Amino acid sequence: MARQRGKRVKVVGGGHSPSDIACTDDFMIQMGKMNRILKVDKEKQQVTVEGGIFLSDLNVELSKHGLALANLGAVSEVAAAGVIGTGTHNTGIKHGILPTQVVALSLLTASGDVLECSESVNSDIFQAARLHLGCLGVVLTVTFQCVPQFHLHEVAFPSTLTEVLDHLEDHLKRSEYFRFLWFPHSENVSVIYQDPTNKPPSSSASWFWDYAVGYYLLEFLLWISTFVPSLVCWINRFFFWLLFSSRVENIAVSYKIFNYECRFKQHVQDWAIPIEKTKEALLELKAALENNPKMVAHYPVEVRFARGDGIWLSPCFQRDSCYMNIIMYRPYGKNVPRLNYWLTYEGIMKKYGGRPHWAKAHSCTRKDFEKMYPAFPKFCSVREKLDPTGMFLNTYLEKVFY
Ligand SMILES: Cc1cc2nc3c(=O)[nH]c(=O)nc-3n(C[C@H](O)[C@H](O)[C@H](O)COP(=O)(O)OP(=O)(O)OC[C@H]3O[C@@H](n4cnc5c(N)ncnc54)[C@H](O)[C@@H]3O)c2cc1C
Repeated sequence: MARQRGKRVKVVGGGHSPSDIACTDDFMIQMGKMNRILKVDKEKQQVTVEGGIFLSDLNVELSKHGLALANLGAVSEVAAAGVIGTGTHNTGIKHGILPTQVVALSLLTASGDVLECSESVNSDIFQAARLHLGCLGVVLTVTFQCVPQFHLHEVAFPSTLTEVLDHLEDHLKRSEYFRFLWFPHSENVSVIYQDPTNKPPSSSASWFWDYAVGYYLLEFLLWISTFVPSLVCWINRFFFWLLFSSRVENIAVSYKIFNYECRFKQHVQDWAIPIEKTKEALLELKAALENNPKMVAHYPVEVRFARGDGIWLSPCFQRDSCYMNIIMYRPYGKNVPRLNYWLTYEGIMKKYGGRPHWAKAHSCTRKDFEKMYPAFPKFCSVREKLDPTGMFLNTYLEKVFY
C-alpha cells in the first residue's frame, strides 16, 4: 500500500527514543503484537523472539528458564528490535552495547523478501542490522545470547570528581558494572558499583526519599529555578546532600537493578568518546561551566563505560568507550534554556572524537558521520541495496544519509 501511494514506512518499538528517529508523517507500523518468544535454546543459552517484544516481558520469561540478558539499559519498556535500532547501552567495561548480545536476526526488506542474518549467513547485512537505525527493513525476529540468571549487589557511595577521575582504572577493575553520577557546579560524585552476588535480595528503597523528595520536590524546585536559574547550583548540591551523601545498598535479580527511575520529562545528549579521554573531557566541561556562570546544568551527568565492538554504526566501533550523558529536565513540561550548554558539550565531545547516541539529541549530519565511522560507506551501500527508494527513511535519517 505504501509503495502504491508513494508513502514511506516507519516501524516503531517502544517509541522511547528521545530523538525523532522513530517519527514519521507517513505510515507507521507498531510492532506491539509481534511479541512472542519463539525459541529458547537452553544448551546455547540463546533466545529467539519477535522484534516487538518488550525487554520487560522478556526479562520475566527468561528468568523462568534460569536465563538473563547480560546487560540492559535504564528502562525495559523498549522493544528487542528497538534497542538494536539505536544502540542502547548500559555500563561495564567488559560488556558491549546491547546489540553485541545479538547473534542472529531476520529482516523483511522493502522488496518483501525475508532475510535470515548472522555472522555466517548474509554476514554483511548482519553487521549493518545489528545497529540498523530502522532503515534497513522490518526486523521480524532477534536472537540474543543470554547468560545464566544472576542477582546483582548494588552499592552507591559518595566521592569527588577528582578522586574518581584520578582512580578511574581502579574503579573500572573493582566493579563489573561501574558508573558514576557527577553533580555539575560541584565536585560531588555518586559512585555506583553493581556486581553479581549470591546474597539474598534486600532493598533500602523508600517511597518518601525516592519519589516524594527525589521526584516531586526536585521537579517543583527545578520549576522554580526556571525563574531564578542560579538556583540550579544550589539544587544540585542540596540533592546530593539529601539523597547521595551516604552509602546505599540493594540486592535483587539483575534486571531490577539495571533498570532505574529516570524521573520526569527531559532533554538528553549522550556521546561516546574514547575511554582514555574521559578525564580531559569531563574536566573541560566542568571548567566551561565554571567560566560561564550563566550556563546552568541539571544533575546528573551520568558517566558509563562500554567495551569496543565491530558493529559498523556502533558509537563504540573499534574502541572502548566512555558515554557521558547530560540532561536538562523539563519540569511540568516547561522547556529550560539549554542551547549554550548543549553546544559547549557537543563541541567538547567532537574535539575528543565523540560519536553521538543515535536515539538522543545531536546536530550531526552525513559529513560528521562519514568522519566518525570508518564503516559508514559500507552501511550506506547495504542500505541502498536493500531499500533503493528510501521506503524506510524519515526526516531524521535524511540528515544522516543525504
Ligand atoms: C526513560 C528512558 C531511559 C533510557 N535509558 C537508556 C539507557 O540507559 N541507555 C541507552 O542507550 N538508551 C536509553 N534510552 C534510549 C532508548 O533505549 C532507545 O531509544 C531505544 O532504542 C528505545 O527502544 P524502543 O523500542 O522504544 O525503540 P523506538 O524508539 O520505538 O525505535 C528506535 C529505532 O528502532 C526502529 N525500530 C523499532 N522497531 C523496529 C523493527 N521491528 N524493525 C525495524 N526498525 C525498528 C525505529 O524505527 C527507530 O529507528 C532511554 C530512553 C528513555 C525514554
